[in-house]
Amino acid sequence: MGAVLVGIATAWGRAREGGRVVVLDEGDRAVRASRGTFALVWVQSKGLGLAPYAGWTIRSSNAWGGFSDLLKQETGLDVCFQRPGGFHLALSEKELEARANTLKRLHNQPDIVDYKTEILGHDEVARMLPDIGREVVGASYCLLDGHVNSLRLFRTLHTALNARGVSYRPSHRVENITKVAGEFRLSTTQGEVRANRVALAAGNANMRLAPMVGLEAPMKPERGQIVVTERLRPFLNHPVVTLRQTDEGTVMIGDSKEESTDPSGLTLGVSATEAERAVRMFPLLANVNVVRTWSAIRVMTKDGFPIYDESETHPGAFVLCCHSGVTLCANHALTVAPMIARGALDKALVAPFSARRFHVPAAG
Ligand SMILES: Cc1cc2nc3c(=O)[nH]c(=O)nc-3n(C[C@H](O)[C@H](O)[C@H](O)COP(=O)(O)OP(=O)(O)OC[C@H]3O[C@@H](n4cnc5c(N)ncnc54)[C@H](O)[C@@H]3O)c2cc1C
Repeated sequence: MGAVLVGIATAWGRAREGGRVVVLDEGDRAVRASRGTFALVWVQSKGLGLAPYAGWTIRSSNAWGGFSDLLKQETGLDVCFQRPGGFHLALSEKELEARANTLKRLHNQPDIVDYKTEILGHDEVARMLPDIGREVVGASYCLLDGHVNSLRLFRTLHTALNARGVSYRPSHRVENITKVAGEFRLSTTQGEVRANRVALAAGNANMRLAPMVGLEAPMKPERGQIVVTERLRPFLNHPVVTLRQTDEGTVMIGDSKEESTDPSGLTLGVSATEAERAVRMFPLLANVNVVRTWSAIRVMTKDGFPIYDESETHPGAFVLCCHSGVTLCANHALTVAPMIARGALDKALVAPFSARRFHVPAAG
């Protein structure tokens, strides 16, 4: 259940394996991270603190091209996935040094997958991003980074679900789940739905739903804000972690993190800081019009890494939740969904990503 990025990608992948798939979702007023996403398919710096997350992310990044081709074959729609390599720009020597140290710690972890991230100086960056400002002292660069058009991705996935005969039921908020005689019974605002298997992909709401089937999903949601400009001539051929030019020409700016969980608010100071840093990175943005700003609540587990788990007490129940649901979309559709169809998650997936990792007693 849950019908935005994680839920619909998994439902589509599950439908490809055959069988009847039903997606239960809240209505249009639901709080949805997917609605406010920045839409990077991002690799660099993922996995500091949990090395397998780097490998999991690279797997999805590598699968994304094939995933978007499959979607295009099924729907005729192009989600505009591109992987030209991405930058994390630094506006001072201190920022660049901090960035280099973070990447060193990441790549020094035992069992980390081997991939390349480079630290580049101003001139090297300027060769690929000619419009950077003088204040950009350098950047980290990773060839595996990319981005996609997130609104097209929703539309395409919903079209693909429809084509596969998946029953999408909006305004079916699940209130309770029980298992009776080997069958799950989901009480929704529009009556009961029965199923042999249940995959919880309800974002931060997994925290409430997972315990109903013997699972857990400790979450720590946070708010992010994005500023969008009018359409500009193409000037940015690579996404930057805080700024990207969409295939339609608009520039999206934002990478903020606030503890607030109010999805209706917008902290103007945060938008102003995002815009100010963007102008220092690309001075040509100084005179462009902002056409939209929004905030959205990130789906964030307590330690920031994904949770993929299956229930021991309620076999057939699964939970999936993660930040970076755009990046991991290909994995959810092509790797996790077939596991759910087979009735069990692979041990190699559950070992690093089960919520059991939160049971480790604190030292001392
Ligand atoms: C500002 C911002 C920037 C981001 N940038 C990136 C990025 O660049 N790259 C990237 O990979 N990721 C990014 N993310 C994260 C990514 O958007 C999320 O990981 C992804 O959208 C999570 O999708 P989801 O389907 O798990 O959750 P959500 O989008 O939150 O959806 C949850 C769904 O569950 C449904 N639901 C909830 N409770 C119930 C219930 N009881 N019954 C039925 N249905 C229910 C809701 O209706 C909703 O449809 C960003 C997020 C934010 C907020």
